[in-house]
Amino acid sequence: MRLDVITIFPEYLEPLNVSLVGKARERGLLDVRVHDLRNWTHDRHHTVDDTPYGGGPGMVMKPEPWGEALDAVIGGAGADGDADTPHGAVDGGPAPVIVVPTPSGVPFTQEAAAELAARPWLVFTPARYEGIDRRVIEDYSDRHEVREVSVGDYVLAGGEAPVLVMVEAIARLLPGVLGNAESHRDDSFADGSMAGLLEGPVYTKPPAWRGRTVPDVLVSGHHGRIARWRRDEALRRTSAHRPDLIEHAVPQEMDRADLLTLAELGWVAGSDGRFGRTPGAVEE
Ligand code: SAM
Repeated sequence: MRLDVITIFPEYLEPLNVSLVGKARERGLLDVRVHDLRNWTHDRHHTVDDTPYGGGPGMVMKPEPWGEALDAVIGGAGADGDADTPHGAVDGGPAPVIVVPTPSGVPFTQEAAAELAARPWLVFTPARYEGIDRRVIEDYSDRHEVREVSVGDYVLAGGEAPVLVMVEAIARLLPGVLGNAESHRDDSFADGSMAGLLEGPVYTKPPAWRGRTVPDVLVSGHHGRIARWRRDEALRRTSAHRPDLIEHAVPQEMDRADLLTLAELGWVAGSDGRFGRTPGAVEE
């Protein structure tokens, strides 16, 4: 997979040389290219921002450097100009997805990470100030797939940290990046046996630490009971930390034991086919 990042703070992307992503780069699984947006400015001060039309506080990133930078990085790839296949590849080569971090974007989720991990080429455009002149997003959306993405309901000073977050979430899903290909199967939000639930607690050796022991079931060697315990713990944690995920769960996809655990936690399936909390239900 190829990843391009265009930024005014290339040094902010240094963590992409470390740990999981760094190793994936070394092993040739990821081709990461970080570009300095100021290389596409032409004035003495390498200006990338200007005052906002309509007034107001803050500065807005100018369209010209972004346009030149994106043209240089993307070239003609995917820009076939055909209205029916606007995001196709022009010559059979890979079509880039342009990922624009912004707090006003669509929430970045595990599902989005999996979708992006299946694409051959991502181009990230982390901004600063009040963001990028809107015309840049509109212009590239005519010829490419552009996704405006938020990493959470808060405002950061720039898009570099969101890029680090997204790249790590995407990279660990790429084949060959994690040592054990199974290890993300049961992650929180993953599509495996815990689909839609948060992962429960995990333990390792020693069996006793500061007087606290590991739950007996985990050392029982009984795979069926261990799986059930993990599932119950996932239900408990999801109920406590993310009740919205239980509200959106489909009761028909739960087994009898799930329904019993959820009932203990105060959740019952309503006539609308969704779970609701019984009044006075006790939190975990
Ligand atoms: N005025 C903008 C707004 O309220 O939507 C906020 C701009 S923010 C100070 C500067 C840049 O940081 C954004 O353009 C974006 O690249 C990045 N950024 C900040 N918070 C983010 C978030 N929650 N998700 C993704 N990117 C974010």
